[in-house]
Amino acid sequence: MRAMDAKTAALLNLPSFDKGWVWLVGGGPGDPGLITALGLKALADADIILHDALIDERLLALTHPGAELIFAGKRAGVKSCKQDEISDMLVRLAKAGQRVLRLKGGDPFVFGRGGEEAQALARARVPFRIVPGITAGIGGLAYAGIPVTHRDTNHAVIFLTGHDETGELPQSVDWAAVATAAPVIVMFMAVKHLGAIAERLVAAGRDPRDRLAVVSHAALPGQRVVEATLAEAATLVGLETPALVVLGPVSRYREVLDWYRPELRSNALG
Ligand code: SAH
Repeated sequence: MRAMDAKTAALLNLPSFDKGWVWLVGGGPGDPGLITALGLKALADADIILHDALIDERLLALTHPGAELIFAGKRAGVKSCKQDEISDMLVRLAKAGQRVLRLKGGDPFVFGRGGEEAQALARARVPFRIVPGITAGIGGLAYAGIPVTHRDTNHAVIFLTGHDETGELPQSVDWAAVATAAPVIVMFMAVKHLGAIAERLVAAGRDPRDRLAVVSHAALPGQRVVEATLAEAATLVGLETPALVVLGPVSRYREVLDWYRPELRSNALG
């Protein structure tokens, strides 16, 4: 099947994917159905696809038969590909006249280094398009029945990463500000240092009784949610990754809004 037929592309007035261009595309979280129409067009037209570890095989199956797939990501903390090498490769392939698709999980500009890659392209005068995706920090939580904002609970959200480029807790975070600035904190890559993060937040004035939910494999058949309080965060064991951690009252909406039943969907499709 072609990922995007010409009629739909024309109706939606989608731009053509020209030779020598790089499209930096967000694949969305988990469920491959969450990719955008522009993302599907990119998959249909690309000559070469550089993708991350979190990209679903079913999306990669939509590339055209002659397209080349390159894994350019990090697996379980192992740096399989250095960032500079990826940026250099994007520049080189585009300059060789290829249509280059850089496919990332979620949204390319949310903790995805898409900004760095786009900067390298801009420096090298390679034309590029950014195709946003649904970030796991919003869409992944939605699959767990957790609205990232709700009028009754929060008018602000913080997105936080639990890792810097060395794999350690980011040094530049102002924990005192983060702890109290918003009722909801959505944490990416936070499982490894969850105990340390919780300790800092509590030390900075966050209520240890606040609700915490860990959503593993969000929007995927293996989705699993573990709930606890902030005080209990350090005691959680066996959390599977990738996972999002959401701190704050919004996880209580799951009691009513927990809608995702991947097993029903697979049964329906046979
Ligand atoms: N650009 C991505 C984030 C990349 S950082 C986005 O916008 O979603 C990778 C982190 O994202 C993971 O460590 C995890 O915290 C989160 N993540 C991505 N996909 C996920 C999924 N399906 N389930 C849970 N967490 C996910």
